[in-house]
Amino acid sequence: MILTKRASELTNYLRELKKQNPQLSIGFVPTMGALHNGHLSLIYESIRENDRTVCSIFVNPTQFGEKKDLETYPKPIEQDMQMLMDAGTDILFLPEVDEVYPPDYEHQTFDLNGLDLKIEGEMRPGHFQGVCNVLYRFFEIVEPTRAYFGQKDFQQTVVAKMLVDLMDTDLEIRVMPIAREDHGLAMSSRNRRLPDHARKSANFIYHGLLKIKETAPEIGLQAAIQNMKEDILKRDNAELEYLLAVNANTINEVQNLSDADEIVILTVVKYYDVRLLDNMYI
Ligand code: AMP
Repeated sequence: MILTKRASELTNYLRELKKQNPQLSIGFVPTMGALHNGHLSLIYESIRENDRTVCSIFVNPTQFGEKKDLETYPKPIEQDMQMLMDAGTDILFLPEVDEVYPPDYEHQTFDLNGLDLKIEGEMRPGHFQGVCNVLYRFFEIVEPTRAYFGQKDFQQTVVAKMLVDLMDTDLEIRVMPIAREDHGLAMSSRNRRLPDHARKSANFIYHGLLKIKETAPEIGLQAAIQNMKEDILKRDNAELEYLLAVNANTINEVQNLSDADEIVILTVVKYYDVRLLDNMYI
């Protein structure tokens, strides 16, 4: 595995490869590190579909609202590098902040049609603009054929597709299913902050989503959602941030199963003070 911290070095290297083979495809997997099997599933798919796979590890300051969250974000870099090597990653891009945002970089505001202001964006003001800025830079640096994202960050996948439209490139956004722990909790780097026993009991989120999927056709979507809300209310150390059904293409909220062809339930539950994101197509 090649390790580079320099953006220009990476761009030049990849351009040289493409000069030798214009058909060469490049898969790109952006991450913030503290890797787990969810990240690896993206890497494996990229390796399967492309000639070269580039993974980036960069804890992007512009997408963090809370300083504490940024400062305490886990950084097990040795372990991450070993996992990436074992998986067969070709290139790891590990830049410092000023390599991604040089002093003359002007942060952009992307027109996301209000998508950056709602649901997850409402909870985390500026988050999706930060995501777009870092992806814009990475797409410039890597010039990938395909970029891989997890369905776990559902709204982010829709934002990434909008960014690609705005940038007018033919880069393909690939979305991979949610990897879960054995008990059902969606894998996340932040799960490390949960007390051990809570990693198992946090599966009430997954089971709640499954139950909505199961019962909504019978009792109605809103009644099924209400049941899960009530279940969360009863649990110790759990606090609901949001739980709603949206049209999977527009992220507009829907009230009934007949309101859209593809519906996703989006939720964030704070459990033992850790924000746990999850979602499910129903
Ligand atoms: P992060 O390091 O949290 O920024 O995540 C990097 C990429 O991995 C994002 O596209 C995430 O959606 C994806 N990802 C994170 N957790 C999972 C998971 N449990 N299953 C699938 N993909 C995931």
